[in-house]
Amino acid sequence: MERIRKEEVTFLDFWFVDIFGELRRMGMPSYAVSEENFHDGLEKLDASSIAGFKSVNNSDMILKPDPTTFRILPPEYDNGRRRNARLICDLYEGSTSEGSRYNRDSRGITKKASEKLSAAGLTHTNWGPEIEFFVFDAINVYPSPYAATHSYGGSGYSIESKESPWAKGNISTAIDIKEGYYPSQPKDTLETFRKDICDDLYEYFGIRIEAEHHEVATSGQCEINLAYDEMTAMADNVIAVKNVVKVKAKRRGKVATFMPKPIYGDNASAMHVHQSLWKGDENAMFDSADSVAEMSQIGRYYIGGILDHSQALCAISNPTTNSYKRLVPGFEAPINVCWGMGNRSAAIRVPMYCRNQQRSKRMEYRVPDPTANIYLLEAALLLAGLDGIRKKTDPGSPVVENVYRMTNEKKREYNIGSLPSTLKGALDALASDSGFLEDVFTKDFLDKYSELKRKEYSAFAQTPTAWEVSMYADA
Ligand code: GLU
Ligand code: MG
Ligand code: MG
Repeated sequence: MERIRKEEVTFLDFWFVDIFGELRRMGMPSYAVSEENFHDGLEKLDASSIAGFKSVNNSDMILKPDPTTFRILPPEYDNGRRRNARLICDLYEGSTSEGSRYNRDSRGITKKASEKLSAAGLTHTNWGPEIEFFVFDAINVYPSPYAATHSYGGSGYSIESKESPWAKGNISTAIDIKEGYYPSQPKDTLETFRKDICDDLYEYFGIRIEAEHHEVATSGQCEINLAYDEMTAMADNVIAVKNVVKVKAKRRGKVATFMPKPIYGDNASAMHVHQSLWKGDENAMFDSADSVAEMSQIGRYYIGGILDHSQALCAISNPTTNSYKRLVPGFEAPINVCWGMGNRSAAIRVPMYCRNQQRSKRMEYRVPDPTANIYLLEAALLLAGLDGIRKKTDPGSPVVENVYRMTNEKKREYNIGSLPSTLKGALDALASDSGFLEDVFTKDFLDKYSELKRKEYSAFAQTPTAWEVSMYADA
């Protein structure tokens, strides 16, 4: 309340996410906010109007603002008339006592997962996501960007795309397909845009950025890497980053999208997540005695646990139908369940060339994409890793070969499994492997999440697409 007064805030924005990680907000003029709201919460949510939350006959929910998340919002959130601040909320039912935390509140799930660390003798974890996204001038879905060179009934049969789907004036064509890695201005037209994003994130949200650059895909693919932070703080950061990116793009008449694979035949967007385990001031993943990867035994078990559950994890790390158009060979996205060091075709990479390995030793999970709900993703990854520690799951040796080119016999020999190829495959995997989550994710939550995701998959599977029309209309 003191900061609201001192910083002359005129409006408060209360943030929370739905079960898919989409940001929702409600605003109140600061004169309407009282000290009690920070203790008793705000009874201002009809949870039946949010997919995946409550039913209409039992819809009341309480938003409890977390005062540590108070941030002044960047000027681009407004027309200049107000001074806005944001607070992230935890969701409660009935009262704000610990016992009535809402079990479908993603942020609550992250917090509950982090309470499991002490059983493994750990104090905290550090998380560092790399967020990739596309910025387009516009997104026009029709007419079909995926026009086949010949239709099914024509003179030939080819499923190759005729041209870059967005080439018809939707985006600049200054950078070719797969030619977008680290270009400079003026080829890269988004450099100042990304720098503006980084500055706002640091100045207003206190979010430290490690690097920004254009990514491999054609004009418009961007990457922003966040400096590591603790579990809940990092999830809060990612929500802010995605929103700032979208708001700033919109203000410039552009569209930012976190859908993984908007362009056939080009690289997709990932959200790699670096993770390290800590015992106080000691990085529990580092062990100089391991001459191969300088990875401790507990770190190897953690990797083993994540690989072991990676198929089920896909329902959370790659939660959209479009996610599986990314997980194909040839675009630096993983398709196989194994780990390596410099190997970008593996699901997990252990970076070797960083200075001060003792502090920076970590693993990078390369499977997730930016449609994942970051709160659920962190919680699920942690639980999978802790399960590996508990069961002493051996991840095998790091793979050095290019897994895209590996024969099936070789994969069998190395015991390398595949990631699911559809959202349905991921949901089926989760249905048969959810035990490692159940201490933290309630059955009620997983049932609801899976039910809605299965509906999403079946709408997708039943919808004739523009590509199909161009392929088969003449059949
Ligand atoms: N965009 C790639 C993917 O879909 C990742 C590129 C990278 O290694 O940064 O996974
Ligand atoms: Mg990248
Ligand atoms: Mg990476």
